Amino acid sequence: MTVPTACVIGWPIRHSRSPVIHRYWLRSLGIQGDYVAKAVEPEWIDAFLRDFAGSGLVGGNVTVPYKEAAFAAVAECEAVARALKAVNTLWLEGGKLFGGNTDAHGFLANLDERAPAWSSAGGRAVVLGAGGAARAVVWALAQRGFDIVVVNRTRDRAEALVNVAPRIEVDDWRSLSGRLKDAALLVNTTSLGMTGQPTLAIDLRPLPETAVVNDLVYAPLETGLLAQARARDLVVVDGLGMLLHQAVPGFERWFGDRPTVTAELRDLVAADIEGR
Ligand code: NAP
Repeated sequence: MTVPTACVIGWPIRHSRSPVIHRYWLRSLGIQGDYVAKAVEPEWIDAFLRDFAGSGLVGGNVTVPYKEAAFAAVAECEAVARALKAVNTLWLEGGKLFGGNTDAHGFLANLDERAPAWSSAGGRAVVLGAGGAARAVVWALAQRGFDIVVVNRTRDRAEALVNVAPRIEVDDWRSLSGRLKDAALLVNTTSLGMTGQPTLAIDLRPLPETAVVNDLVYAPLETGLLAQARARDLVVVDGLGMLLHQAVPGFERWFGDRPTVTAELRDLVAADIEGR
């Protein structure tokens, strides 16, 4: 007997922690199922998505670089995926491929869990970066009523985010310190600070003492940005919770139970990231 099986697709896919997360939930909820990583080469992605309904899989996650290709391939998608023009979660309904995007949900759920008062006063959020992750972040922040300033190395990419949500401004790195002065939240969505990438050179001294600092980078868990914010006694939130929370809606769609992000799961994935 084959068990219901979901997957994560990407290229490359070796780095993905999604199998660790979903297999933990399958085990802890006692569900007969499986979750596998599939490396799909770029020349095969269109065919893979077109034939998904006949693959025997119940659904899956989509990671870099295929979120836009998945958006283009689905028959129907949720409003958030339409707004972001990117799909990270696939499922089947009536033999048709459906798509959603749970990155914005994961981002908000992580902050709600780790810094419960983070959005109660609203205000200004400064977002560093303008790639795929930034798109989900600005959309999510707009849902909570924030004014948003996007700062990115390539200004054109930041300008392209202005249409994602209302009240988004773009500014340059050289103006950053002035922008931090009254920021309620600083979010790093660049890959700077990630293992193997250059460090994020930033001076957090202008931030108000009530500011919250969130890094989407989760390898390492404690980035230079978070260490600097912690040294200033600011509220800090790492990126691991976003990774865990974005996985919840997909699991529920494929396997029927809504799973919980537990401390045990966090430790398990943190150990995997840290090679323990
Ligand atoms: P992406 O689309 O490739 O965007 C990368 C961003 O980083 C761009 O804004 C890029 O600026 C900037 N950047 C890269 N190298 C830079 C450098 N040397 N100097 C200045 N800026 C630089 O990637 P993404 O998918 O948005 O992911 C970004 C990061 O978020 C990654 O570290 C990823 O692991 C993390 N992430 C975490 C989660 C989570 O669940 N915690 C979810 C999604 C992503 P330019 O536009 O100028 O190139």
